[in-house]
Amino acid sequence: MKPINPFQKNEELVLEITGVTSEGHGVGRSEGVAFFVPFALPGETVKAHIIKVEKKYCIAKIIEIQKVSEHRVKPPCEAFEKCGGCALMHMDYAEQLKTKTQIVRDCLDRLGGFTDVVVQDTIGMVDPWRYRNKGSFPIGFVDGVAAFGFYAERSHRLIPLYDCPIEDVPITALARTVTEWANRNHVRIYDEETGKGCLRSCVIRVTTTGERMVVVVTKGELPARESLLKMLDVESLYHNRNDRNTNVIFGDRFTLLKGKPQLFEQQGELRFAVSPQSFLQVNPTQTKKLYDTAIRLLDPKPDETIADVYCGIGTISLAIAKHVGKVIGVECVPEAIEDAKKNAAENGIQNADFICGLAEDVLPNLVQNGMRPDAIVIDPPRKGCEEPVLSAIAESGVKRVVYVSCNPATLARDAKILSTFGFTIRYVQPVDMFPHTQHVETVVLMTKTDDGEK
Ligand code: SAH
Repeated sequence: MKPINPFQKNEELVLEITGVTSEGHGVGRSEGVAFFVPFALPGETVKAHIIKVEKKYCIAKIIEIQKVSEHRVKPPCEAFEKCGGCALMHMDYAEQLKTKTQIVRDCLDRLGGFTDVVVQDTIGMVDPWRYRNKGSFPIGFVDGVAAFGFYAERSHRLIPLYDCPIEDVPITALARTVTEWANRNHVRIYDEETGKGCLRSCVIRVTTTGERMVVVVTKGELPARESLLKMLDVESLYHNRNDRNTNVIFGDRFTLLKGKPQLFEQQGELRFAVSPQSFLQVNPTQTKKLYDTAIRLLDPKPDETIADVYCGIGTISLAIAKHVGKVIGVECVPEAIEDAKKNAAENGIQNADFICGLAEDVLPNLVQNGMRPDAIVIDPPRKGCEEPVLSAIAESGVKRVVYVSCNPATLARDAKILSTFGFTIRYVQPVDMFPHTQHVETVVLMTKTDDGEK
């Protein structure tokens, strides 16, 4: 029988690149086989070396670019191609935005069966650099010194960094101070393979109000504490202890070493307290555009009840609260729910309730107990919604759903399930929260008209 994929590992071939996958990899075809080629751009002709052969596709590495795309630019980053963070930094920004629109369209089409859905142009940034307000850096022992960096894509090999052009300036500066503290005090660096050593990582967050938070994560006790307190001049400094041999960043024990337990972030008129465990959108400039889009599509009315599922610290809930009768936020991280309650109180908002629990438990329960929201916002993590969340939405009789998604693949899957419950996609607006990476955020409005009608 003729093999489905006639190619072999280590073969070389010339490919014309015609598209981009949702991972940001170039796509070409030869003899009916799809080729995924990282860092190749559409319109390019590349000589490639096959590094992996699967039944229906191959993965290949560029050896030489024979025809260069007019959209190829030189990335201003020392770690580009090595660090797993940015898959599109070699593409000019206008083209990145077009590519993201296409990625959303492809996912909705291929994975959701929404063949001719209109996807709006992706809303981009005027200055797409230094936008990230958070850095989460593993620390390793590289060439005899402590270094922070990123793990190479799909691996745990540390790529040391000095700076990162998508992080806000204070973030890598603070990470450099943490490694300097470790080197000065001969702090042992944790080794993932052996499980030995102490300093694991640092997580740094800054707010638009100029406040900074550093969390130093160790296995076991924190060494050289006085020196750390002296060296790190920040508004909030935490120690987190993570004794487990896992790649989950935080352990359960947070100790405030200095300063305030929470940072404050300002979004429009609202002020938000943010604990180290709580989620906060990483791109404050784009967050405003994202939330404005979500609220415009939601079109809340004064007497309505709105559910904000996966609400984090209540950012969307509290922005909606002033437009409606009542908001109910659902979120599984207890500290985020505490932040949300505090944020409601501090902003003088009395019509928002927050419930801590898994959306897949809480929402079905609320609906079973008679909750009938007028509209629902869902903003799940990358893996999307668990099925009980979607069936509870259907059960609730709600007619408007605004789905805020950071992963177009799971968005397409979930939207398809919602369409089986009678919801129709009305509007799709991608927002570029993550310039230079392959990631794209999308806001989708789905509505249901009276039974049967579409
Ligand atoms: N809407 C918020 C948070 C979005 S991020 C904002 O814009 O800031 C997704 C949130 O969902 C995170 O806060 C995460 O802690 C929470 N989460 C993840 N899985 C969950 C689940 N199964 N049930 C409830 N919340 C969950």
